Amino acid sequence: MTNKEIANAFAQLAELMEFYEEESYKIRSYSNAYRVLRAVDQPLSGMSLNELKAINGVGDAIANKILELVQNGRMRLLDSYLEKTPAGIVALLGIKGMGVKKVQQLWKDLSIESPGELLYACNENRLSELKGFGLKTQQNLKEQIEYYFQSLEKYRWASVEKEADDLLDDLSDLFEKVSLSGAFKQLNPVLEAIDFVAETDDFTKLAEAAILNEAVDKGSSFEGRCKNSGVKIKIHKAEKGFFGEKLLQNSSSEQLFNIIKGKVSNFKDLDEKAIFEQAGLAFIPYELRDMPGIEKMTQIPDLIKLSDIKGVIHAHSDYSDGQTTLKVLADYVRSCGFSYLGITDHSQSAFYANGLKTDRVLKQWEEIEILNKGFDDFIILKGIESDIKNDGELDYEDEILKGFDFIIASIHSNLKMPEEKATARLIKAIENPYTSMLGHPTGRLLLARQGYPIDHKKVIDACAANKVAIEINANPLRLDLDYNFLPYAIEKGVKISINPDAHSKEGVHDLRYGVQVARKGLLTVENCINSFDAAEFLEALKK
Ligand SMILES: [Zn+2]
Ligand SMILES: [Zn+2]
Repeated sequence: MTNKEIANAFAQLAELMEFYEEESYKIRSYSNAYRVLRAVDQPLSGMSLNELKAINGVGDAIANKILELVQNGRMRLLDSYLEKTPAGIVALLGIKGMGVKKVQQLWKDLSIESPGELLYACNENRLSELKGFGLKTQQNLKEQIEYYFQSLEKYRWASVEKEADDLLDDLSDLFEKVSLSGAFKQLNPVLEAIDFVAETDDFTKLAEAAILNEAVDKGSSFEGRCKNSGVKIKIHKAEKGFFGEKLLQNSSSEQLFNIIKGKVSNFKDLDEKAIFEQAGLAFIPYELRDMPGIEKMTQIPDLIKLSDIKGVIHAHSDYSDGQTTLKVLADYVRSCGFSYLGITDHSQSAFYANGLKTDRVLKQWEEIEILNKGFDDFIILKGIESDIKNDGELDYEDEILKGFDFIIASIHSNLKMPEEKATARLIKAIENPYTSMLGHPTGRLLLARQGYPIDHKKVIDACAANKVAIEINANPLRLDLDYNFLPYAIEKGVKISINPDAHSKEGVHDLRYGVQVARKGLLTVENCINSFDAAEFLEALKK
């Protein structure tokens, strides 16, 4: 155990004791130990009890705890605090810039228990108004948390996108043939590294260019980390003439690659298109290449594209927790070339998000009608994101519910439920005659919060039976409905809407992440209702 590790254990102990508001003199002695031990230049792990006690600022209790750490690799007192603290809180305390007071406040005021929940709250602008936080702190925390997730060796696709593009540029200067590959190329929402394939006899050029940190030549690949962020990078070597084969291998499931390999005698100088032709298969887009059984598909359907999307459904204005006014948001959406905006602020139970009480719903409807008079090629639809209450009911009286053009029903509270309860709660809401669409079905936040477990098939069946559409929430943290359930939903005739859940103008562009996963689930325009025009969109939601 290094001095730093030993010192850090005391820092963590002090932090946890502060979190539980233990006596301050104890906390002080442990945080003092942290500072003292960090500065010791001889290895603590080799010292006797007396030697430890001879260090200025180390008393009997601290010295014994150091011995305990060195001998057992752990400290009982620290363990006892770790055991009673949710792992997410421990993780939050470990994030730079957080501090005990902030973690306590976030826990108390916003029920935030993990870094993922905090990141989501930052993205939804929840901290900007919180006492002691504000916009700048929110931005700082956001950056710290992104970093925290990257250090966990798993990355959301959207968070490494820029990195991947920049690296591709750098690598293109070095190699004649180079491509992104692997999980990134397959548009997987979560990945463990950014993969590339490069045609080269050796990686010396790469080593010389010093593009990566911690770079190692592993023979068939060259691995390292991105200089700025530490994201893991793998560059796979394709031998001259075999770029197509390597790219295919590195961006397909093993099963798919083996099937093709069995049908193609010689890959030399074949690009991927030629390989698929020789194998007698339709060209399989990258995003489908890890789908089990995809090779059996004789024709790949025309998958949905971002340019097919005509309406922005599910967006929040500053009536609830969005950053801009309804007018600014609508003008922006229109200027992006969309023909309608389905505004869906939060409903009244969502007090943390400034949900709309009835009078403010009426006020918003009034404003929508005025704004709509000013458009001849665009319309704002009166929607709402209604909380699904604990008993499965929606969040307004029928009188109000029937005034909306459409209603997205979503769960935002009491997320800790067993599968049976969660499924029943959703189905109750789906059966409500006013529900048009189910919002983010599981409440998950990728790499951050698992979400409540649901029986996806039962939920999809209920949507089919009640003519309720399901959203793919395109926020890259959510991507919920999970694309793996799309083929089943499509088979059951359930309509899908790809929704950005935008809380700002920029948030509208999250749509593309939703389209990406929709493609992975074989979604086409016929089943994607916000690729219809506004009248057809509403028609598709009619019971
Ligand atoms: Zn929501
Ligand atoms: Zn929302």
